[in-house]
Amino acid sequence: MNLCTQKLLAAKSIVVLTGAGVSAESGVPTFRDAQTGLWERFRPEELATPAAFQDNPKLVWDWYTWRRELVSRAQPNLAHKALASMERVAPHFRLITQNVDDLHFRAGSQSILELHGSITRIRCSVCNLIEPEFDSNSSPPTCPRCSNYLRPDVVWFGESLSETVLSAAYEACSQADVFISIGTSTMVQPAASLPFMAKQYGAFTIEINPDDTPFSIAADVCLRQKAAAVLPALVSQTWT
Ligand code: NAD
Ligand code: ZN
Repeated sequence: MNLCTQKLLAAKSIVVLTGAGVSAESGVPTFRDAQTGLWERFRPEELATPAAFQDNPKLVWDWYTWRRELVSRAQPNLAHKALASMERVAPHFRLITQNVDDLHFRAGSQSILELHGSITRIRCSVCNLIEPEFDSNSSPPTCPRCSNYLRPDVVWFGESLSETVLSAAYEACSQADVFISIGTSTMVQPAASLPFMAKQYGAFTIEINPDDTPFSIAADVCLRQKAAAVLPALVSQTWT
C-alpha cells in the first residue's frame, strides 16, 4: 500500500478501469455470479446479444427491465465514493468503466468513459434515436420515429464499442503514470487490453480484485481485497 501511495502522489495522470466487481457490494451481481430467481435458467452471455434480441425481443427486454430496476434500487458503495473523491483531489484523473449501471455517476464521478454504454439509457435499435420516454407496458416498446423496437443503449457481446469512447480510453491509458484495474475479470475485449496497454506505455499498475485475473501476473501490485474495503483507505492514506 505504501508503494501505491507514493506512486499515486507522484503521478501526473491516474487512470482507473472498473468492472462489475465494483458494483458487487452494492448488490448488483457480476456476470460471473449465478443469476437468481426468475432469471437463474439463463446465462447473461445468451441474453446480452443482438441475436438473442432478434430471436426473442420480449425475453431480452424483460431481462433488462429487471436489471434496470435492480440497479435503480442499488446505492453507490464506498468504492464508487472513493473514486469520486479521487477525481476531486488527483491532478489529472480518468475513469473508464465497463459497468452499465449509473452508480459511478450517482456517487459523484464527473467524467466517465462508459465503454459498454448505460442500461439507464434507451435507444432505437434501428435509427438510434435516444428515447427518454417510453411505454413501460410494451415489451419492448417501439420508436416514435421509425416504429422499430427500442433497446437498452448498451454494447452487447459481438457488437462494436463506440470509436470515440474507445480512442479516448486508449489515449488515457497511453498517458497514465498510475493505472488501477478494479473488479474486472479482464476477459472481455477490448476493455481487457487496457491494463496491458497502460503497462506497456510505462504506467505503474495496480490490480484490486479478491481473485486472480489474466492481468495479475503483469500488475506491479495486486491488492487481493474487495474494492469497497481497499479504496477508501488508499484514498485517505494518499491524500490526507
Ligand atoms: P466480470 O463479471 O467478468 O468480473 C467481475 C470481477 O470482479 C471478477 O474478477 C471478480 O473476482 C471481481 N470482484 C467480485 N467482487 C469484487 C469486489 N467486491 N471487489 C473487487 N472485485 C470484485 O465483470 P467485468 O470484468 O466487468 O466484465 C463483464 C461484462 O459484464 C462487462 O461487459 C460489463 O459491462 C458487464 N456487467 C456489468 C455490470 C454492471 O454494470 N454493474 C454487472 C454485470 C456485468
Ligand atoms: Zn427509430
